[in-house]
Parts: sequence; C-alpha cells; structure tokens
Amino acid sequence: PLVLGIETSCDETGVALVRGDELLVDAVASSMEEHARYGGIIPEVASRAHLEAMIPTIQKALGEADVDLSEVDAIAVTAGPGLVGPLTIGASAAKALSIGLNKPLYGVNHVIGHACVDQLVDGPLPERAMALVVSGGHSSLLLVQDIATDVVELGSTLDDAAGEAFDKVGRLLGLPYPGGPHIDRLAREGDPTAIRFPRGLTAAKDQAKHAYDFSFSGLKTAVARWVEARTDAGEEIPVNDVAASFAEAVADVLTAKTIAACHRNGVDTLVIGGGFSANSQLREMAAKRCAEAGIDLRIPPIRYCTDNGAMIAALGSAVVRAGVAPSALDIPVDSSMPLTTVTV
Ligand code: ATP
Ligand code: MG
Ligand code: FE
Repeated sequence: PLVLGIETSCDETGVALVRGDELLVDAVASSMEEHARYGGIIPEVASRAHLEAMIPTIQKALGEADVDLSEVDAIAVTAGPGLVGPLTIGASAAKALSIGLNKPLYGVNHVIGHACVDQLVDGPLPERAMALVVSGGHSSLLLVQDIATDVVELGSTLDDAAGEAFDKVGRLLGLPYPGGPHIDRLAREGDPTAIRFPRGLTAAKDQAKHAYDFSFSGLKTAVARWVEARTDAGEEIPVNDVAASFAEAVADVLTAKTIAACHRNGVDTLVIGGGFSANSQLREMAAKRCAEAGIDLRIPPIRYCTDNGAMIAALGSAVVRAGVAPSALDIPVDSSMPLTTVTV
C-alpha cells in the first residue's frame, strides 16, 4: 500500500510517501530560522508556519514523486506527543485528505516513528529491538517487540532531554541557539577527561526505580556551577574541555543504560533516532560500546533522524501491513501521548 505521512509535532512540516519499506519522497519545510531569533520554539509561530507550509509541502511531495493523490491508499499523521497547536494542524490536514479521498486514517506516535524510520534505510527490524530516541524534546529508551503493535517504554528523561541539555549548556557558554551542534564542534577539540561531571541516575540507589531513566538537569547545573566558580575567580574558561567533559557525561549515561537494557532483555539490535543522534560524541561511544557488546547498531542518516514525514509514513506503512484498525476520523491529538501507544 502507498502511505502518505504527515508530521507537524514541532517546527518541521514533513510530508512523505512510503510504499512497503520504500521511501518515494520526503518533503520538509522548517520554521527553525524564525525560532532561532527567539532562542526557542514559540508554539504560535510554529502553528502559523505549519498552516502556511502544509499544502505547498503536500504538493511538493506529490510532484517530486510524480504521484496523484488518488493513488494514495492510506494517510498517517502524528497524533502526539508534541505541541498541541502544531499537532492539530497536521491532524486537520490528514482528516481532510482521509475524508476527501475516502481512505483510512492512522494517527501514530511521533517517538515510535523516530525508531521506525530506520526500516526505510536498514531494512526490517528484527523481532525484538532496542530503540534510543534522543532529540531536543525526547530522551527515551524503548523495547520494540513489534513496531506496529507492541512497544514498551523502559525509561525516559525525568527532566531535560539530551538536546535540550546541550542547548542550555550552550546558552551558559554564550553559544548561539541551538547550542547542541556548537558544543559538539568545540568538544572535538577538548579533553573529555578534563572535568568529571556527574552521571545522573547511575548511583546504586537509583537502580531499582530508575535503571533506564535519564536525568540531565543536575549535570547542567554542575556545568553552570563549575563555570561560575572559575569566572568568579577571574580564571579563563577552558570552553573546549568543558564541552568535551559535558558531552562525555551525556554520551556515557545514554550508552551505558541502553547497552545494559539490551543485555538484560536479550536484545542484540539497537536503533538510535531523533535529532540528537547527530552528536559525534554519542555516535562514537555507541559504536565502540556496541561493537564490544556484540550489538548491531543502526543509526539512519541524519536527515531521517530529525523530524520528518518519512518517519510517520514508515510507521503508517508498518501499521497498515500489520492489519491494525484505522483511527476514528475524530482522532484526538495528545501532546503527552504515552510511548506505549503506537496508534490512536
Ligand atoms: P523533537 O520534537 O523530536 O524533540 P526537536 O526539534 O526538539 O524534535 P530535533 O530537531 O530532532 O529536535 O533535534 C534538535 C536537537 O538536537 C537540538 O536540541 C539540538 O541542539 C540537538 N543537536 C543537533 N545536532 C547536535 C549535535 N551534533 N550535538 C548535540 N546536539 C545536537
Ligand atoms: Mg526540530
Ligand atoms: Fe522528533
């Protein structure tokens, strides 16, 4: 079946067409440049941008793939989690298409889409796989027993997402927004062992309840204190070493917990998705530790890791093929959709 996927959970308007596990086209429009002026995403600005970009992006996707709307067999759309205004705009477009074309509608989970998109690149996931989804809004560890029907949330961040922590540390180091890529670049010139920053939720006392949860706000505060103390003492800040030591702490926690979860669940395939998977320190450490642990590591190219329509069309395609019932036409969007809910 040919599935048209629509993604509008945050600041990217994404529209893609997927047939089976084959991606025909992935069109995306972003309002990030507008948000950069404010140093963060303004939901109202994002909503208006989605409204303006939606129809042109649908037309662009259809045109590039040389597909007529009448050929589409099903519509998939992000139902959550995400910003409620932006989600509503994507859902409204998807409902209109579903009604107009008389084709089934599937409201799907954005975070699970970040894991599913890998199937378009690396082929079908094995029966059980681990997925680490890390972005500006999410840091979650999912046990994927069946991408269309059975996903277990092993853990998530209790406070900041990994990308968010990078952006906050970027701000305190005076870097432009978003700070993540800048810290990555500076960290490559620094010594990751220069400063021992804390690893959140790794202490023995946290193992019972939070073995697979993450916490990055304590780390961010530790970096702020360290920088403040040096500044107060009139010392120069070794920015590269701070960036490298901070990035090392984040990568260490993410990879250690994820690999422990793979071992304890007898899983030997790991997918990393979400925009933060661009981070070189995470990529390097994950590659090294997965190789040592005999885990097959799959990270799709970065354009599929940031928010896009392909991830939603991919999950829609998997769900259709699994024979899951379509969503009701009045699908509710859910800003905090549970990560165990694949479709609504
Ligand atoms: P979501 O809705 O999935 O949370 P998002 O727009 O918040 O999406 P993405 O666009 O997927 O997130 O990723 C952007 C985040 O990743 C930002 O926080 C950004 O700073 C961070 N990031 C991107 N590249 C890097 C990098 N190389 N190193 C560190 N952080 C990065
Ligand atoms: Mg984004
Ligand atoms: Fe996302």
